[in-house]
Amino acid sequence: MGNKPITMALAGNPNAGKTTLFNHLTGARQHVGNYPGITVDHKEGSFHQDGQQISITDLPGTYSLTAYSVEEVVSRDFLTTAKPDVVVNIVDASNLERNLYLSTQFLEMGLPVIIALNMMDVAKDRGIEIRVEKLSELLEIPIVPIIARSGKGTKELISQALEVAASSKTMEPRDISYGEDLDESLMELIATIEQTSFLSSAYPARFTAIKYLEHDDEMLRKGQAAAPETARKLEEIVSKTSDHLQATMDVYPEAIIADHRYGFIKAILRQGVLTHKFDTDRLYTSDKIDKVLTNRLLGPVIMLAILFGLYQFTFSWSELPVSWMEALFGWLGGVVENTLPDGLLKSMIISGVIDGVGGVLGFVPLIMFMFFGIAVLEDSGYLARVAFMMDRVFHFFGLHGSSVMPFIVSGGIAGGCAVPGVMATRTLRSPKERMATLLTVPFMNCGAKVPVLVLLIGAFFTEHKALYMFLFTMLAWLVALVAAKFLRMTVLRGEATPFVMELPPYRFPTFRGLVIHTWERTWQYIKKAGTVILGISILLWASMTFPGLPQSEQDLYESQRLEITETLAKQTEKLQDALTGINQEESAATLRNSIAGKVGLFFEPVSSYAGFDWRTNIAMLGGFAAKEVIISTLGTVYSMGVIEADKASSLGDRLVKDPHWNAVVAVSALIFIMFYAPCFVTVVCIAKESSWKWALFSMTFNTIFAFIASVLVFQLGSMFS
Ligand code: GDP
Ligand code: MG
Repeated sequence: MGNKPITMALAGNPNAGKTTLFNHLTGARQHVGNYPGITVDHKEGSFHQDGQQISITDLPGTYSLTAYSVEEVVSRDFLTTAKPDVVVNIVDASNLERNLYLSTQFLEMGLPVIIALNMMDVAKDRGIEIRVEKLSELLEIPIVPIIARSGKGTKELISQALEVAASSKTMEPRDISYGEDLDESLMELIATIEQTSFLSSAYPARFTAIKYLEHDDEMLRKGQAAAPETARKLEEIVSKTSDHLQATMDVYPEAIIADHRYGFIKAILRQGVLTHKFDTDRLYTSDKIDKVLTNRLLGPVIMLAILFGLYQFTFSWSELPVSWMEALFGWLGGVVENTLPDGLLKSMIISGVIDGVGGVLGFVPLIMFMFFGIAVLEDSGYLARVAFMMDRVFHFFGLHGSSVMPFIVSGGIAGGCAVPGVMATRTLRSPKERMATLLTVPFMNCGAKVPVLVLLIGAFFTEHKALYMFLFTMLAWLVALVAAKFLRMTVLRGEATPFVMELPPYRFPTFRGLVIHTWERTWQYIKKAGTVILGISILLWASMTFPGLPQSEQDLYESQRLEITETLAKQTEKLQDALTGINQEESAATLRNSIAGKVGLFFEPVSSYAGFDWRTNIAMLGGFAAKEVIISTLGTVYSMGVIEADKASSLGDRLVKDPHWNAVVAVSALIFIMFYAPCFVTVVCIAKESSWKWALFSMTFNTIFAFIASVLVFQLGSMFS
């Protein structure tokens, strides 16, 4: 074997264990989940074995190679354009028949393929016995049984895969019979294709012909672009066949093709390849559990109870570690206060760095608890049930069952992020359902909004924190769904598409998996706090400090201080109070005069309808950079004008004491924060996934909506209280 790296692709059904194997081989820590459709983009990595460098690609999971979804197109395009040296087809041994459906299509494409028969442990537990050699003989490709989770059999798998890659003999595309009518039509199509070498660089003739019969949009488009003349001829043959089948049997060619593929698989499995020893298998157990958990009436009730339990767990268990973090940063502030001399540097470190970053990092324990809970739901397979149950509701609002994933990722169970949520919409097939999902996922309570909500709820509604959090999460869902319905009735009007999604069997989550999931997401949050937020806090601090007061005004405050010092020289206590009063006035005047202050003041006449003063406006503007910044900015603006002695009190206390804040303002602010323009990063993602036009639409639509809602809350609330 040469020194050139061998290219290897991992392909298979969703949930077959591709990412687990990928991680095992490369040592990377990709997201592994018991949830279909987790990998949308393909991921690359590399490793060594037998002195050979191997570069490996984890493809998105698919059930077929017909272009029904984005994953299928991504996978197929990769296989035909990148032409990997070997394709490792991961097959879930506990679900053999269904998984082999995809394998038959690799055979038809004539790809150099090897089957990794995964989940042998699960198959064994369920009493499923597979005669691997027999199966390999009948399919005419190598098969290696493995357990991806423990790495068993993977060395053997790779060494056999290397042999496939190295073997000079090319794979012959496998011919599966599709019945008399279709076979005849296929011959005609193949003859036409071969005559003109139609798309022959990418696909074997028979594969192209089959995809034409399956009405594969992507293939039809490619055909038309490459050779319109031949494409037209092929389409004619297909429509003739299609009409004939319709007239005689009332079926579409797609259905017959699927039937025959399953027939081909059944025929193989029946030759003593597959035996069930007993049928009290896990699928059976899963079905039994599902009878209760996805029951029409009981299911949603249990779901709400489980989600509510998640909140209880997160908020009550994290209370103590959160208070430790607060104490830590309070102590740090005190140390700096006492060691550094007064001046710009001290002000920057306390108001910019410690208050800003501390405010964000203080929530790390809470975020970790939340992510841990979500990881349990996801890895056990329950999250997929949530999607399944929510589909009924989603349909009503013009969305699709698959929209649930983006919503949950974005913070449907509070604490996600709209950025991966926006990316996750790629799994949606219909462009309009996809746009409607894309535009409404930012309404969810992402991990960055959670601390802001917690702060305000904690400060103004000390009782029943978990209940309020839960209610605000429900509100986010309600608003997102109504907004989606509104969009689907106006700018995105169109038909709904039916729902198909696999419910994976329930699995006991592994501790390692839970830890990896929790850590990955927490780390993303910390990274943001450590880099972006630090920069923004300092920038905001600068914009709130400069240009400073003109000398004449500074002198005025200085002379006031002198005067008071003289007159009150004997009454030291009163003197201290009077002096801090002046200091406070001076820093408030400085803030007012600063760049940020001017921007905040500029918006005050409008924002006051929603109860926001100019300082809150500064925080909201900062929040556009990243929602976490709202806390750090509030921390900064409300610490700058505060008497030294009060610095030790928490931001929540300071807000409660401030005359501009009360419970009504807090609710109005909560509503605005939940629904106004998505953060800058999300906006960029929306633009990348659709267009800048939609990104701008999202910013203006959300902000206007949020403002109207806050004004209503504030005006009505003020009237009644
Ligand atoms: P993908 O969708 O194909 O990438 O599948 P994943 O790698 O995300 O795996 C789906 C689930 O199956 C995860 O919960 C894995 O921990 C689990 N899993 C993967 N391989 C095995 C295995 O060999 N045995 C068992 N028991 N579970 C496995
Ligand atoms: Mg995966």
